[in-house]
Amino acid sequence: MYFALPLPIRFFTLKRNAMANTKTKKTPAGSAKTSKDQSSVPANSQLEKFFSDQLKDIYWAEKHLIKELPKMQKAATTQQLKDAIDQHTVQTELQVARLEQVFELMGKKAQAKKCDAMEGLIKEGQSIVEETEDGSMTRDAGIIMAAQKVEHYEIATYGGLVSIAGTLGLDEVADILNTTLEEEKQTDASLTEIAENDINWEAEQETDDSEE
Ligand code: FE
Ligand code: FE
Ligand code: FE
Repeated sequence: MYFALPLPIRFFTLKRNAMANTKTKKTPAGSAKTSKDQSSVPANSQLEKFFSDQLKDIYWAEKHLIKELPKMQKAATTQQLKDAIDQHTVQTELQVARLEQVFELMGKKAQAKKCDAMEGLIKEGQSIVEETEDGSMTRDAGIIMAAQKVEHYEIATYGGLVSIAGTLGLDEVADILNTTLEEEKQTDASLTEIAENDINWEAEQETDDSEE
């Protein structure tokens, strides 16, 4: 029968198992309680492995964004969008630091694993910049869409990570990741606001004089 144990105990068990880095389910000699007694999370849990792989993926993605966001900022037309991107770059740096804190809490070293999705989303953003006129509002409307695609990927990722952290009994980790999740949602909402307040309307007036 499974007993819900106080979360700090479950977390300690998981952290100890993660640090032990062992493929066996054996618990240290003399340990009064086995991990099975303390938590439903097995020592070599597939879900925990998947969770850390996804952490590495988003860690890579956030670090990639820190390099790429300033390029988007430069390409933007309006000061309002430039400021919003600046602000989110600072937030992204904090999000990277939060992920490092999560790795530490789990007794793992912070590692990045290439995120193909983020690489693709950034490439798409670059194409949008190339295909829109420099100094146009249409460029900004495009950058906002590209940025929102990134935010939605992040919202999906952090949403999933918060859920799984809860399942694994990693409450502190879930809280930290949830802070980032809320920031991503907030960023998405502010981008919609910027687009709908002016940029899209001004872009609507722009004519396309290029030859197709
Ligand atoms: Fe982020
Ligand atoms: Fe990914
Ligand atoms: Fe973001």
